[in-house]
Amino acid sequence: MHIDPHAQGEPRAYGVSVEHEPIGEHLTRPTLTLLLTARRCPVECVFCDLWRHNHAEPTPRGSIPQQIAAAIDSLSSPVSSWSIKLYNGGNFTDPQSIPPADWPAIAELCDPFERVIVENHATMCGDRLLRFHDLLRSKLEVAIGLETSDPNVLARQKKKMTLEDFAQAAEFLRGNDITLRCFVMLQLPYADPERCVGDAVRAVQHAADAGAGFVAIIPTRSDTVEMQQIVASGEFVPPRLRQLETALRESLAWGHAQRLHCVVTADTWDIETVRHCPDCQASRIANIEKMNLTQQPRPLTRCSCR
Ligand SMILES: [Zn+2]
Repeated sequence: MHIDPHAQGEPRAYGVSVEHEPIGEHLTRPTLTLLLTARRCPVECVFCDLWRHNHAEPTPRGSIPQQIAAAIDSLSSPVSSWSIKLYNGGNFTDPQSIPPADWPAIAELCDPFERVIVENHATMCGDRLLRFHDLLRSKLEVAIGLETSDPNVLARQKKKMTLEDFAQAAEFLRGNDITLRCFVMLQLPYADPERCVGDAVRAVQHAADAGAGFVAIIPTRSDTVEMQQIVASGEFVPPRLRQLETALRESLAWGHAQRLHCVVTADTWDIETVRHCPDCQASRIANIEKMNLTQQPRPLTRCSCR
């Protein structure tokens, strides 16, 4: 859902939705997801397009609590067993994006929820994050973009993060009773497109081994000018729906073999835009959604396409 943040004269989240997020086999938790309108992320990873929804100026004080309050007001059910996901297309502890002066109001708005999920860069998970944690009564979960477990590919994404940074952040969260969630990308620029499924599965394993309780596999989009240039240069081949289905299936099969308590999903945001064969697109999306929900690996959709 997209909302013009200025259409009604007050700040609005550019996306508000209620999802039923898997938390185990056939188990889901209702989650209020907000895509907050905020100052754009200063990191500027090569593959990222989230900045398009955000602005260059610092987020004004009061804007974020207003956006959260408006989203909560739109709900009609009790939320005591729910999660609230506050995604700012950047880093929660970036003071230009989420003013720390608003943290007490944000924490209070989140009080009725069981769990609060924010996103943050690995190098920003430190004492500032603990100050927000201290304000919360709800359980805190922090989502970090691991993206890949290949250090050479990671180094070319302009992400300003190493695998060592990630390991330190994971340890810091674990030591402070904060849950880790990770994003990994299916196919990054400058990575071998023939290996993208194996690379994604290895990244899921890397995240789970670091203690992640949830890993989302995101098919890399290429709708920015920068990414289109990399496509034209031949250094990025957009991933296919079949590869997303395979990466999810193999990750779940691995998790089962390891008896891991880590939820793995394929991100279905804009999934209809992922490269596909028209004959099997609908069946593959349905199979992916079923695996997301059941957390069971399922046979791949049969089709004559490759
Ligand atoms: Zn097909």
